[in-house]
Order: sequence, then C-alpha cells, then structure tokens
Amino acid sequence: MGVRTAEQYRKGLIDDRTIVYRGRRVIDVEQEPDIRSATDRCALCFSIAADRPALAIRDGYSAFYHLPRSREDLIARSELLQEISRRGAGAIVLKEVGSDALFALLRTCEGEGLDRIRAFYQRCLDDDLALAVAQTDVKGNRSLTPSQQADPDLYLRIVASDADSITVRGAKAQTTYSPNADEIVVLPTRAMGRDDADYAVSFAIPPATPGLTLYVSPYSAGQRNEFEFPLSSRHRMLESLTVFDDVRIPRERVFMERQWEMAGPLTLAFVDFHRHTAINYKLPFLDLMLGAANLVADANGISHAGHVRDKLARMVAWTETVRGLAELSNIRALPDDRGVWRPDPLVVNLAKYTFAHGYPEAAATLVDLAGGLLVTGPGAEDWADPSIRPVLEKYYAGAVPGERRLRIANLVADLTVRDYGGYQTSLNSHAEGSLEAEKMQMIRSFDPGSAMRYAEELAGLVAVDRTVADGVGHGRSGEEDWPSVDRLGCLPLDWSEDR
Ligand SMILES: Cc1cc2nc3c(=O)[nH]c(=O)nc-3n(C[C@H](O)[C@H](O)[C@H](O)COP(=O)(O)OP(=O)(O)OC[C@H]3O[C@@H](n4cnc5c(N)ncnc54)[C@H](O)[C@@H]3O)c2cc1C
Repeated sequence: MGVRTAEQYRKGLIDDRTIVYRGRRVIDVEQEPDIRSATDRCALCFSIAADRPALAIRDGYSAFYHLPRSREDLIARSELLQEISRRGAGAIVLKEVGSDALFALLRTCEGEGLDRIRAFYQRCLDDDLALAVAQTDVKGNRSLTPSQQADPDLYLRIVASDADSITVRGAKAQTTYSPNADEIVVLPTRAMGRDDADYAVSFAIPPATPGLTLYVSPYSAGQRNEFEFPLSSRHRMLESLTVFDDVRIPRERVFMERQWEMAGPLTLAFVDFHRHTAINYKLPFLDLMLGAANLVADANGISHAGHVRDKLARMVAWTETVRGLAELSNIRALPDDRGVWRPDPLVVNLAKYTFAHGYPEAAATLVDLAGGLLVTGPGAEDWADPSIRPVLEKYYAGAVPGERRLRIANLVADLTVRDYGGYQTSLNSHAEGSLEAEKMQMIRSFDPGSAMRYAEELAGLVAVDRTVADGVGHGRSGEEDWPSVDRLGCLPLDWSEDR
C-alpha cells in the first residue's frame, strides 16, 4: 500500500477495541466527538503526504518511518516534525512517537527479537500504520523496583508463556492517542534487574486485542466555542490508562522477552529519539508562546516599557536557545554500530530540559502581560449578541480595537489559565520524560574528564598525581558507565526515571 489517505486511516480505527470514556463503552471512535477530535489531530500525519509529498514521503513510504542513515536524514526529519506540529498548534502526532519506538527497537533488539521487529517495521511501512507507544508503567511506589512492589501488577509483566505466545498482565499509564492508533507498541520504562526479568517485555498489538481496555482521560474535552477557546476547540490530545488483563501476545509480535539486561538500553534508545521528536515538535509551540506575548503587549500598548522588553527578551532567549540546541543535536549526531544516526543525546536532553525548565516562566510572562482579562472577559454568547457587542467593542479596546484585543486575550487564556493551559503545564513538565530524567541523561552523556584534567593542571596537581592527570579513574564516558544491578548490587533510586 505505501501511503494511506487520512480517510483510509480513519476507517481503519473502527473495530472491536474496548474503550471506556466517562463511564461508558465507546462503540465507534468516529461517533464520539472527544475521541474523533483527537483522530483529527492524528490524521494530519496522513494528510500531509497529499500536499507536501516531497517532505512527507520517502522512497514510496511515509517519511516519518525513514530510519535516519545520515545527518541529512535527521535534518529532514526535523523539518517534517516541525511542519506537522505547526499544523496542529504545537502538538505531537502518532507517527512521530511510533517511529521513535521503531528506531529504538531496531537499534537495540537482538536475535529473534531483531528479526521480528524488522518484520513489524516493514509492515508499518507497507500498511502506513499509526502507532501509539505505551512505555510509562503505573509504577506504584516510585522508590521500589518492579519486583519489589506490594502488588506485582504495578509494572506490566509476563504471567505465562507457551510455544506460540506470552501472556501479560498490568497497566501502562498516560498512553497518548491509544484509541486513535492502529497498533500499540509496548516498551519497558526503566532499567531492570535479574529479579525483574518477568517485567522486561516489549511487543506490539492492535488495540482490539482481547483483554486490552483503554480507559480514556477526559481532560480538556467537551464541545467548545471558537471565540473563547481558539486552540482547544480545534486541537485535542487524549491519554489512556491502558490495562492488560491477561492479554495473549503471539510470539511473532514479541521483541523482548525476559531479557532484563536489554531493558535499560531499550528505554534510553527510545527516549533519545523521543526527546529529539519533542524538541522539534515544541518549536512551533515556542513560536506560539512568543508570538502571543508580543501580540498581547502590543494590544495593551506596553511593548516599549522597559520591564516588557526585558520579559520579551527572556522569551526570545528561551525560544532561540531551544531552537539552536535542536539544530545542534543534528549537527553533532553520530551513527551507531548498525548505521543508524542518533541525535546527540547530551544536546537533545539539554534542549528538552531548557524547554521544560523555561516553560513556567514563559507562561507566567504571558499571564503578566495580558492582565486580569484572561479570566474576566466576556463569553461567546455576549459577543455574538448584536445588542451587547458594541458595548464590548467600546470598553475592551486597548491600543488596538476591542475585537483584536479580546481574541488575543482568549488565545493567551486558552494557552495558560484555562484547562488546556493546565494540560500544557503537566505535558510540558512530564511528557517525553521529567526534568530529572533529562538531567540524568545529560550527566550520563557528558564526559567531564578533560575539564577535570584542566582544573587539575591549574590546581598544580599534575605533578602530584600522574595517574589522575592521565585521567585514569576519572573520565566518565556516558553510556559505557551505566549503573547496573550487577556492579552496584542494587538499582539506584533515580534509575527508575529513565522515561
Ligand atoms: C500529556 C502527557 C502525555 C504522555 N504521553 C505518554 C505516552 O504516549 N506514552 C507513555 O508511555 N507515556 C506518556 N506520558 C508519560 C510521561 O512519560 C510521564 O508522565 C513521565 O515519565 C513522568 O512519569 P509519571 O507521570 O509517572 O511521574 P512520576 O514518575 O511519578 O514523577 C513525579 C515526581 O517524582 C519524581 N520521581 C519519580 N521517580 C523517582 C525516583 N525513583 N526517585 C526520585 N524521584 C522520583 C519525579 O522526578 C517527579 O518529580 C505522558 C505524560 C503526559 C503528562
């Protein structure tokens, strides 16, 4: 088949998948408005093939699934991710997260698992599938490993196996767009120890697999008018609690089975691609925040005030630092031993951290510049009433006419103080990994050896300790030096935060 249309994608979602939403079973995802609007968002990754084929199709297949084989491939991927995000007001789509998982599995799997992921990858190309990724486990007590939890099902685990299949039980949390996917790819969320072998599992299954239930979150849902909610009336993501109630997985769909040593490398291989996707899809969102800040300052007639210029300059610094780091992650990319080009993990995590760390200040700046109007402005019904509207136009005018000022204020309100803004706050802090997970990966990827040697030299230590000056015992070299259960005797507390 090669490349599907958005319509073919939508039709493919109508099957026996078990979806629970607001206390009832959803029979047809196209008939449920809140789920359909998330499908609209994901359909963008199909419709782009029709109007930007040079960008969205590679060798007859969807360009999202093109395995990066050069630096130029990564740069082309970045361009595609940014364009699709611009069309969706700065959000992710399924083929992005799905390709991140496929690339990680192709880089990491061994033996039969590698043969199976290669076959599955070819199916994704041939049938142009949309993949959700269920990596984050529900995790119970965060300070305990999977096998230490009071309830053994708090991380997804293998409970039985036979010649043809494995059976899994447990739940994954916060799975974006699972009801809108053709397949759900399951990955481990952390490094595992020998005792966690049953939890070291990766596979892919269709959402309609018996025993699988998607409990969909209602956050930021409901019918909304375009005046008050210019973003959230048209753009919606959704997440599910993805419960596996003794689900049978055919062996040809299993990529990792009890190979606990592989769980850490697979987790990290995914997050490095996934955070590269994140920093690219966030760029249009950063532009949206920066553009809205400038618009609201102009609307209030405060653009030239010193404190406003200072705040806008800080937002420019934030936006352009993330953009520059996103570009640098491609420039510094290197191939792995399978010839897959990997964006520089240090820079990717630094970019994602810079974005997430700077987001609260940027959101606060928008709220500050906009004034109280964000929560006190008029509703859509008043605006639509010809007898009321002239009053609103007169008294909501600022340095610009009333309508312009109100529409800008509503954009800012949707972005920051209404429920979609709340969703963004959590999304920007946690999705694609928390701030702490990013810091951990930065530390792992950075070799301080030469900096330490330079400091030692200036401290006059070179002659004192030749061993140290030579760097023996000091230089850390990123992934070669992962903590492991074998060497440390236990998993470090923070290690569960790989995702
Ligand atoms: C909108 C949204 C969409 C998402 N989409 C997906 C998706 O499609 N697929 C998917 O698999 N996941 C998805 N996620 C999940 C995301 O990856 C997680 O939210 C993230 O990894 C954090 O995990 P958590 O939510 O369980 O928070 P927690 O891990 O509970 O973090 C809460 C706090 O605890 C700290 N903490 C956690 N563990 C430890 C520890 N061992 N030691 C010390 N401190 C610790 C953290 O640093 C943080 O400060 C999504 C999340 C959001 C918000």
